[in-house]
Amino acid sequence: MYKHSPQRVRVDYPRQVLVIDWTDGHHSEYPFRYLREQCPCAACVKDRSQNTPKILLDVAFRLDGIAPVGNYALNLIWGDGHAHGIYNWDYLRDICPCPECTAAREARAAQEAASPGEET
Ligand SMILES: [Zn+2]
Ligand SMILES: [Zn+2]
Repeated sequence: MYKHSPQRVRVDYPRQVLVIDWTDGHHSEYPFRYLREQCPCAACVKDRSQNTPKILLDVAFRLDGIAPVGNYALNLIWGDGHAHGIYNWDYLRDICPCPECTAAREARAAQEAASPGEET
């Protein structure tokens, strides 16, 4: 069901990053702030889709807890009590901030912008 699965997940508190080593050898490091900004819960997705995103205090970017959800996702619990975000493996892999994945996402977006809908 999920394309990607992690071999190892660890939280590096001194560096404030979540580190995932994937079974295909890819390595991802997600700064806490970035993860909170990409929270996949319905409320945050709605906030981001509007042009007036909620103002988050620093405490919102403190990772207070991390819990596995079945074997397909992680539930991240933030310092301001926000705990609705269920980050599944494919989503995490999709938002990987490494240069390689960022370039791939930008190429995809550019392609979509260049050919909206059907090609004629
Ligand atoms: Zn959220
Ligand atoms: Zn990557």
